[in-house]
Amino acid sequence: MEIKKGIAVSPGISIAKSLIIDSEDYRIPRRPIEPSQRIIETQRIKNAFAAASRELTKLADAQDKSGGGKIEDIFAVHLRFLRDKSLKKRITDLVQSELVTAEYAVSKVLRDVAAHFSKVKDAYISERADDINDIEKRLLRQLLGGKRENIDNLTEEVVVVARELSPTKTAGFDKRYVKGIASDAGGRTSHAAIVARSLGIPAVVALEDFTEYVRGGDTIIVDGNRGIVIVNPDRDTVAQYEKYSREFLALEHKFDALRDLPAVTRDGTKITLLGNIEFPDEAESVLEKGGQGIGLYRTEFLYLNSQTEPTEGEHYEAYAETMSFFKGKSVVIRTMDLGADKFTQSRRFSREPNPFLGLRSIRFCLQNLSLFKTQLHAILRASVLGRLKIMFPLITSIHEIKQARLILRDVMEDLDDEKIPYNRQIEVGIMIETPSAALTAYHLAKEVDFFSIGTNDLTQYTLAVDRGNELVSTLYSSSDPAVLRLIRTVLQDAHKARIETSVCGEMASEPEYIMLLLGMGVRTVSIAPPMMPEIKQVIRSVTIEDCNSVARRVLELNSERQISAYLRTAARRILPEAF
Ligand code: PEP
Ligand code: MG
Repeated sequence: MEIKKGIAVSPGISIAKSLIIDSEDYRIPRRPIEPSQRIIETQRIKNAFAAASRELTKLADAQDKSGGGKIEDIFAVHLRFLRDKSLKKRITDLVQSELVTAEYAVSKVLRDVAAHFSKVKDAYISERADDINDIEKRLLRQLLGGKRENIDNLTEEVVVVARELSPTKTAGFDKRYVKGIASDAGGRTSHAAIVARSLGIPAVVALEDFTEYVRGGDTIIVDGNRGIVIVNPDRDTVAQYEKYSREFLALEHKFDALRDLPAVTRDGTKITLLGNIEFPDEAESVLEKGGQGIGLYRTEFLYLNSQTEPTEGEHYEAYAETMSFFKGKSVVIRTMDLGADKFTQSRRFSREPNPFLGLRSIRFCLQNLSLFKTQLHAILRASVLGRLKIMFPLITSIHEIKQARLILRDVMEDLDDEKIPYNRQIEVGIMIETPSAALTAYHLAKEVDFFSIGTNDLTQYTLAVDRGNELVSTLYSSSDPAVLRLIRTVLQDAHKARIETSVCGEMASEPEYIMLLLGMGVRTVSIAPPMMPEIKQVIRSVTIEDCNSVARRVLELNSERQISAYLRTAARRILPEAF
């Protein structure tokens, strides 16, 4: 049994067999074979080694002719490994002794060797771990050939284990079968984590070298509440976690009973609870959890899952479907926030050196007008179906709002020409998620109808800490006094300009922040649907005066550590069972 601590990003507990997916999505479950199959599997291993050697020799020859130099050396190293009899023997011995498939034996032995190499202090040897990983992939490609199994065709419950998960990949998970997620990389507000939370799949990230020692088919416990992952737990541990899981479900059940009760503080202040969604089919779960509308629809997911750019009709259908759940209730559609870690299929490989500071979000839209106009056309068309609002992401200057509004006006004129009805008075807002926007909120407020504070990016850009990088995850915290001061500035400036402001970053989905946000003046939050009952429970347990005093105290504190500790204690006092 092995216990590993990471960052809890999506609550809940799951126990299932691991399914390791690497960047090429090979699926290597531990499948038993019959003793009579040993000969066949051993032959398959020999064939795979031979085919991989032939493939490499061919590549090396081609490289030789073009004078490839360094690459040629790499091929030579790989070939040497493939011709190493003891390596092949270790793999075939495993098939013989443990009755496992060729794929599993290759993966297990080569991952063991890579893990061993990577721990050696000598840089030349530790770098060979990458070569071993490449060889593993090459052999698996030979073994799996055309029958590479796909994560999309699952038939049994699994915990997905990966080095890193993209938001696109995570969004494609079938939650009937993917019961848990454990990854080496990632952070609390990385987009893959946000998607896991939306799907309600317990997840732990930033597990460092977890994939090095997990094997396909190992039993894994994912504790998405405490940020712990356990490999091959003993019987007592499984029993203990089954108990935790029952308690967690009972608590969820208790919170679900709050669904139809209003989100109102003990002294009668009404708070608006909206939901964050990535796909139209999540809209229903916002309603089920007691949400009063959509505060953030991350429409870029329309692009991520499909091989082609969505047509205007596809955009419209997605928005119309979402609106159909929210008759008369507000739905904020954020225009596409592409770039950084979310790419269209066509831009998947054109990586920028600094993508989070690059052609992202509204900047990408303003340089790709036809894409942008297609989306705006569909949003406007859907605007007659209810209380639809438009929101532009990652604004850094007033100039960007003016440009975006100009384009919106162009599209309105096109609709006029086409005699298509739309809401001329549609509300237009922006996300405040950069320090520059927060510091100029006073001016920006005059250009728009509402703000929504995106604390995920605001924290990342204020502290210069990548929100998805586990190496700096301890430095990433919305409790930092710098972040809180910017939030306070935005709230004060919006209040002066009399425009509505919500908070839609993950901060609003975390129970320990709610009192602080209310105390700073927030009255609308937009959160991940599964977190709604818990957040509502906190709201219903406090008075605004309690919240004001928390905010006053926090804004006097000078360090993130003090603030986090103070907020945790305050929240525990209010809602002990949730912590
Ligand atoms: C944010 O940045 O806080 C936000 C809500 O947007 P996203 O997480 O999609 O970047
Ligand atoms: Mg953002």
